Amino acid sequence: MRLYGLIGYPLSHSFSAKYFAEKFELENISDADYQLFPLENISEVTSLIEHQPDLQGFNITIPYKVAILPYLDNISDASKSIGAVNCVKIERSVSGTILIGYNTDVYGFRESLEPAIKPFHSKALVLGTGGASKAVCYTLHELGIKYTMVSRTGNKESILNYSQLTEEIISDNLLIINTTPVGTFPEIDKCPDIPYQFLTKEHLLFDLIYNPAETKFLRLAREASATIFNGSKMLELQAEKSWEIWNG
Ligand code: NAP
Repeated sequence: MRLYGLIGYPLSHSFSAKYFAEKFELENISDADYQLFPLENISEVTSLIEHQPDLQGFNITIPYKVAILPYLDNISDASKSIGAVNCVKIERSVSGTILIGYNTDVYGFRESLEPAIKPFHSKALVLGTGGASKAVCYTLHELGIKYTMVSRTGNKESILNYSQLTEEIISDNLLIINTTPVGTFPEIDKCPDIPYQFLTKEHLLFDLIYNPAETKFLRLAREASATIFNGSKMLELQAEKSWEIWNG
């Protein structure tokens, strides 16, 4: 049996476990399993790998995307730039075990955003400065899109505060990406504090949140005739990319 899984803590609801269970069933993959491995401390990852000899790879979620780095033998260029890993491939041989880290959020975001962007989406606002924001900024840089981060604690030209978002700034940045968890179920009546009244039909708003499918952020954008995308496709694509890495 080929074993894969997810490490993090706590691990109550997991999109990945459900996704892979459905994938294995749909694609008649009977020799693979995807399990949840809640680790109270990241140092437990070493014994997990030792005691699960069938484990060939795993995903990583909050709070270990950065903490996993010292345990890896090698990491992809994107993971190095971002400083976070959400997928690890385990290579076992007689000479030892090698762990290689990847960031598949980058792939998922790029593949879901790229088909939707038009030449005039050349400047972006990225709301939030956490782990997902770093993957988003890395991708925007790769796509040649200039971006400005927006943070609750921003106070300079490179990182703005929400209170600095004027009509001019909203008109100048036709791509706006929410990488904050604000608006996630059950707090669906919340949304990032941007001036939605200045959105137009040229705007493209991307929310990394996938539950609910339409957040208040996206609903207000849709009501202003902007184009909207949620994080579902990104989530599926990053899972598929992990599968490709483990089995490539
Ligand atoms: P994170 O590291 O905790 O970062 C979230 C950032 O959002 C924080 O750094 C913070 O930035 C901002 N923030 C947090 N609480 C806020 C609040 N109450 N009001 C305004 N801003 C707030 O989390 P993450 O790992 O980056 O994940 C962020 C979101 O992306 C989550 O909802 C996650 O589920 C989603 N995500 C989706 C996918 C996908 O495939 N669709 C992949 C990865 C992540 P400031 O302190 O600078 O304001």
